[in-house]
Amino acid sequence: MRRTFLSIGECMVEMAPTAAGDYSLGFAGDTLNTAWYARQLLDQKWGVSYLTAVGEDAISDRMVDFIADAGIKIELVQRRSGCTVGLYLIQLDNGERSFAYWRSDSAARRLADDPARLDVAFATADVIYLSGITLAILPHQQRSTLFDALATARQNGATVVFDPNLRPRLWDSHDTMRRAIMAAADVSDILLPSFDDEATFFGDATPNDTARRYADAGAALVVVKNGGGEAACLRDGQLGHFTPPRVAHVVDTTAAGDSFNAGFLATYLETGNLDASMASGAALAARVIAERGALIKL
Ligand code: ADP
Repeated sequence: MRRTFLSIGECMVEMAPTAAGDYSLGFAGDTLNTAWYARQLLDQKWGVSYLTAVGEDAISDRMVDFIADAGIKIELVQRRSGCTVGLYLIQLDNGERSFAYWRSDSAARRLADDPARLDVAFATADVIYLSGITLAILPHQQRSTLFDALATARQNGATVVFDPNLRPRLWDSHDTMRRAIMAAADVSDILLPSFDDEATFFGDATPNDTARRYADAGAALVVVKNGGGEAACLRDGQLGHFTPPRVAHVVDTTAAGDSFNAGFLATYLETGNLDASMASGAALAARVIAERGALIKL
């Protein structure tokens, strides 16, 4: 039977500096990155779909073509007149990357403004994937709309996967961010946090503490990424650990977590084997951080 992996969030235009001193135009965004890798790794019995909102202008057309060309289904990409997509520019200063964003009025901020549309989209999804960035871009009321739709989807048998991906600059306060993240954990089955963020904003002392906090919030499975350090997982009260392979030359850590999530889920959804899934996530992330850019063809 055909199965559907649905990712929800914002894809942006990326302007990245080239060796020649100008900029090249690409497209990326955390939830799109995970969908991109999931499409390459999952068996063809899985359809991978992206839910977002874009404008009706030429750059929105290019973005949607880019997503479709990756084999990702675009039926749930909403078109909104009078607005456009967000953009970020990467600046290099002595090899250090910094980012400038133009996304405060992007079309994607309206992706959850119609509860009925969300219910229809979720009704055919087996796995629904979202992140803290998906939540951060939404107006408060629409976050609740999204949580309600996720709760209904879960009752109907969907598995909800959530990466907190904490980005304090997108939230009006750390408190709002923490409350929304824990509310999302409450309607999620699988949590995929990154320890350094969680330690900073929730005060967790170890990856085990992060895993326990989200398990206490109701997640059946928590996998805590930890950069090059030991990752932790917690399922049915059982803690496990995994040390990622050493990467001799880390070139660009963009999308490390997003690609880990896709590698992990591609194996987990097929086998349910935690050790194999952690290894698969870490192996993909190792490949991605050894190359420049978020999206590499496997
Ligand atoms: P995020 O990108 O979300 O902050 P992490 O930095 O924890 O997430 O990295 C995600 C995954 O990428 C890790 O679990 C690990 O598998 C891999 N990874 C990241 N940095 C390194 C590194 N320096 N060496 C080896 N693997 C790494």
